[in-house]
Amino acid sequence: MSFSSIVGHERPVRVLRRALASGRVPHAYLFWGPDGVGKERVAGAAAGALLCTDPGALERAEGCGACPACRKLDAGDHPDLHRLVPDGASIPVDAVRRLQEALAYRSFERGRKVAIIRDGFRMTREAANALLKTLEEPPGGTHIFLLARHRSQLLPTLVSRCQSLRFDPLAHDQVLAVLRDLGAPPEQAAALAGASGGCPGVVWGEDPGVVLDRVQEAEDLVARWDDLAAAERFEWAGRWAGSRDDLAHRLDCLEHALQRRMRRTAGTGRPDERTLDRLDAITRVRRWLDRNVNVQLALDALFLDAAGREWEDLTCDP
Ligand SMILES: [Zn+2]
Repeated sequence: MSFSSIVGHERPVRVLRRALASGRVPHAYLFWGPDGVGKERVAGAAAGALLCTDPGALERAEGCGACPACRKLDAGDHPDLHRLVPDGASIPVDAVRRLQEALAYRSFERGRKVAIIRDGFRMTREAANALLKTLEEPPGGTHIFLLARHRSQLLPTLVSRCQSLRFDPLAHDQVLAVLRDLGAPPEQAAALAGASGGCPGVVWGEDPGVVLDRVQEAEDLVARWDDLAAAERFEWAGRWAGSRDDLAHRLDCLEHALQRRMRRTAGTGRPDERTLDRLDAITRVRRWLDRNVNVQLALDALFLDAAGREWEDLTCDP
């Protein structure tokens, strides 16, 4: 992965390349933005420049693609690139401790080590506090890329020790380009791009027919939501709770459908409070699910328009 193959994300890429070229790369970055937008690809490109053994790599802010280090990166087995991914719904403290041990060893190649932490907001409190110690006193030559949906999901003490870079959803044409690069057939790429909400990773690898069904389902729900009887709302919640594997994507599709509705009503001059409340509710429901709150309860609250802060106070740890 190299910066030249990254589509979009001009600002974060510009900031990173400038830091690399200057040779003054912060020890910790926080990349925040929606799931599947491309944060991990950009972190991979930065790792490529940091770990490449070609003497001009940093100045060019790009790995050479040919040295042994670049070949190992391409093959996914560079010993100085550590990827930490959630174990189920959380990143436990043991996983952070293992990462810390790995970062404490001497590097194999040219003195730098890179860690990419996916879904950093899934760290348990204990894990986040352990990582904080590394951010306070990072081992020399270590660069950590912490990825999350939003800064507010992380301990403020962690955020304050990272340089934050925001990632926005891509434009439709950019998603198309990413999906085509990944090898999606053109007719499927168009359908998937339309359903991606600007985040190619959300739809890549999905069956286009299934994706389009979910988009249509979300549109239907948004159109009828106000008129649904309580029994129908429980039905929706039950159906979604019963397909846990699809839930994240269904919530994404619902969020995109609500955002489209916001854009459609933006010109009327009357704020669409109901839709705004529902968008807030989705954010809260995602957070509850990350904390292993009962799925059925969380979805009942969402569909009944009852997923307010009061509910959170009653059911979640502070
Ligand atoms: Zn190289």
